[in-house]
Amino acid sequence: SEKIEDLRITDLHAFYGESHALHGIDMTVYQGELVTLLGRNGAGRTTTLRAVMGLIESRSGSIMLKGKEVIKASAHEIARLGVGYCPEERGIFASLSVEENLLLPPHVAPGGMSVEELYEIFPNLAERRTSPGMRLSGGEQQMLAMARILRTGATLLLLDEITEGLAPVIVDKLGDVLTMLKERGFTIVLVEQNFQFAAPLADRHFIMDHGHIVDCVLQSELKEKQAVFDEYLSV
Ligand code: ATP
Repeated sequence: SEKIEDLRITDLHAFYGESHALHGIDMTVYQGELVTLLGRNGAGRTTTLRAVMGLIESRSGSIMLKGKEVIKASAHEIARLGVGYCPEERGIFASLSVEENLLLPPHVAPGGMSVEELYEIFPNLAERRTSPGMRLSGGEQQMLAMARILRTGATLLLLDEITEGLAPVIVDKLGDVLTMLKERGFTIVLVEQNFQFAAPLADRHFIMDHGHIVDCVLQSELKEKQAVFDEYLSV
C-alpha cells in the first residue's frame, strides 16, 4: 500500500536570535509511523518539534503537513491541521481539576476525543477527575497533558520526553498508550532519552547532532548501526 506523508521537512533552519540551532534538517514521517529523535542534550530535538508546531519565529525551509506548506503558519493554524505538541513542561493548569483541564482544549481538528473516551484510555484520570492539576503525581500530569492533546483532535503527536522522571509502572502504561495510538493510525514523533522505552515502539530513529540529522536508522538495523548510536548518543 502507498505510504502517506504526514510530515515532510526539507532544509529546515531555526534560529534563537543570532544562534543558529537547526542547520538544514530533512525528514519525512509517514502516517501511522512512530519515529524518534535521538541525540545528546542540545542536539536540536526540542527545537525541531517546536519549529514544526510553529513556535519558533525564526525558521526557514519547508514544512509540509499532510501536503500543505506551513513554514509561515502560526501555531494555531498548525494545531488546526491536526498537530499536537506535548512540551517537556507539560502545560496543564495547576489550579483546575483534571476534568476542567480536559474540557478546556477546544476540538480544533476533526475527530477530537470525548472526555469519556479519554477516561477509558487513561483510567487513572477518571479516578482523579475532581483533583486539581497540582495534586497529581508526575505520571498523572503526563497522562493529563497527553489527554489534552488527544482532545484537540490532533493526529500527528509531537511528544517531548514524556517518560522523564516517571516510575517504571507509569512508563509501561505510557508505552501501552502509544502502542494503542499507533494501532489507531496516529503518527508520533518522540523525543526520548529513555531508549529502552522508545526502541520497541519505533519504526525508525532519526539521529541528531549539532542541529543536523546525521543518520536515520530503521528498527531492523539497530544491531548493524550500533556504531552510530555509540558515536552520537554516548556521553
Ligand atoms: P535538550 O534535551 O537539552 O533540550 P535538544 O536536543 O532538545 O536538547 P534543543 O533544546 O533543541 O536541544 O537546543 C538546540 C540548541 O539551541 C542548543 O544549542 C540550545 O542551547 C539552543 N537553544 C535552545 N533553546 C534556546 C533558547 N530559548 N534560546 C537560545 N538558544 C536556545
